[in-house]
Amino acid sequence: MYDKVFFINATNASDLVIGRLTDTLVDIAYQQSTWGQQMPIVWVPLDLQISDMRADGVKLITKEKVLDINRSNKEFSLSEKRVEDFLLVQNSIGKILYFDEPALRDFIVIQPSAMVNILRAFITDRMFWPKKGLLRDILEKLSATGVLQKTDLFTLWSQRAFKELLGNDRIKDYVVQVLLHLDILVEPKRYNEMDTAADLFLVPCIVTSNIPRKIQIAATDDKTICIAYHLKETVVPSALSFKLIGAAICIWPLKKVDSRFCLYFQAAVMDADSENIIHIHVEGQRIYAYLINDKSKELISPDLATTTQECLTLALERILQFYHRAICKQNFQIMSDLFEIEVGEICNGETCLIPLLDAQKRKHWSCKNGKKHETKYPLNWVFDKNKEHCDPNCEGLEKETKTLLLKPTDQHFVHLTKYLGIGDFYNFFIHLGMTKTDYDNLNFRYFSNPMDMMLMGMFQWRDKTESDQSPATFGKLLEALKAIGRQHYLCQGG
Ligand SMILES: [Zn+2]
Ligand SMILES: [Zn+2]
Repeated sequence: MYDKVFFINATNASDLVIGRLTDTLVDIAYQQSTWGQQMPIVWVPLDLQISDMRADGVKLITKEKVLDINRSNKEFSLSEKRVEDFLLVQNSIGKILYFDEPALRDFIVIQPSAMVNILRAFITDRMFWPKKGLLRDILEKLSATGVLQKTDLFTLWSQRAFKELLGNDRIKDYVVQVLLHLDILVEPKRYNEMDTAADLFLVPCIVTSNIPRKIQIAATDDKTICIAYHLKETVVPSALSFKLIGAAICIWPLKKVDSRFCLYFQAAVMDADSENIIHIHVEGQRIYAYLINDKSKELISPDLATTTQECLTLALERILQFYHRAICKQNFQIMSDLFEIEVGEICNGETCLIPLLDAQKRKHWSCKNGKKHETKYPLNWVFDKNKEHCDPNCEGLEKETKTLLLKPTDQHFVHLTKYLGIGDFYNFFIHLGMTKTDYDNLNFRYFSNPMDMMLMGMFQWRDKTESDQSPATFGKLLEALKAIGRQHYLCQGG
C-alpha cells in the first residue's frame, strides 16, 4: 500500500509532486476499514482522550481509568454500557485491544503494537539473543524444549526494554492471560487439577528441536493407525501448524519422556489415555495424526479413535475458518473444500494412506509396497458411535438406583465428554437444563478446544445444579442422555 516514493522539493512552492502525495494519502485514507463509517458523536470525547494518551506514549491503561476519564466528561459522559460498546468497537477495528473476558476485561491496550514488543522478549531470532548469561540460557532452553517457566518469562520481561510497559505483576499477569487467550502461550493440560494456575507454559511456535527418531519409530506397523488431513490450499501459513499443535496440546496432555515434554518443531506426542498415545506432525500441506497402542492396533477402541478424529477435525476446521476470516474475509461453509481426509497404517516404517471415501467402499487396499492392508482398523477413525454396542438386553444404569444418586467425579465427566463427542453435545447440554446462551458463551470462549468446551460445560452444569441445592447426580446425566437417545453412554466402558 505504501510502495510509492515521493521526492519533494521543499524549496519550490509549485512542486507538483506534493499534489500526488496528497492524492495518495487520500487514497490510503479511503482504504481504511473505518473510512466513511459513522461514529456516534458521543464517542468523540473519549476517542480523543485515548488518542492523546497514545500520543503521550501510554500503551496500556486500566478499565477503571477509562471509566474515570469518562465520568470526568460530565454531561458528555457515556453510560457504563455505552463505554463497553465503545471499547468493543474500537477493538474490532484494531485501534485498541480489549477482550470482554473475565480474566482480561480489567485492562485496555491502547497501543496494540506494544504487544509485538512484549512478544519480542521470547519470540525472537537467535541473532538477537544476548551472547551469554541468564537470559541466553532461558532462550536456549525455550528453543530446545518449547517450555517456558513463568519465572523465566518474568525475568525476560524485567529487561529495560519491557520494564516501562510491564510495570507491575498485575500487568504481567494480564499480559500472560492475553497471550494464553491468543494461543501464543499454552498451559499444559492436566485434567485432574483444573483450577491450579500453571507455573510453566508451552510455546509451540518457538521450539526448534525435531521429533527424535527414537520416538518416530515407536509408531510401528502393528500398533498404529493413521489419519492425514491434506490441505488443498497451496500456501499453508506456518502459524497454522503452531495453532493446531497448540489446540491439540490443549485437548490432550503432552507426553513426558525423561521429564521432557514431547513438544517438537511442528510435532507433538500426547497421551490419549494410559494405553494409547497420539502423534501429530505437520509436513507441508499434510497434517498427520497417529494413534499408537501399547500392544496392538487391534486394541485401539473405535470410540477413542473416532473421538480423537472429531476433536482434530473440529480444531482444524476452526483454525482454517479463523485464517479465512482474517485473510480474505470470506466464510467457507463447506469444509470439505479446504481439506481431504486420508486414513491408513504404517507400512515399512512409512505412512500408507488411502482417501477416506475409498476406504469406506472396500475391505482391503493394495499399496505400492505390494502389501495388502485391511481397511478395518483405519476405519475406526470414523466409527459410527450411534450404533448400539451394549448387549441388546442391557438395561443400562436405569435399574441401579443407588448409583443414580451418586455424584460423578471429574474423571467420570472427562470420560463421558470423550465419549459424547461434539455432535451430540449441544442437545445433551440443553437437556441438562442449560441455556443456548450458556452454550454460545462456552463456544466462544473455547472456540478451538472442543474438549475443553464440553468439559467446562459439564462443570458449569454441576456448579449451577449444586448452587440450587440439588446434587449433580448420575441420574440427572442419564435423563439428559435418554432424551437424546444415548442412554448407554454411561454403561459403556464406564
Ligand atoms: Zn502399505
Ligand atoms: Zn448399556
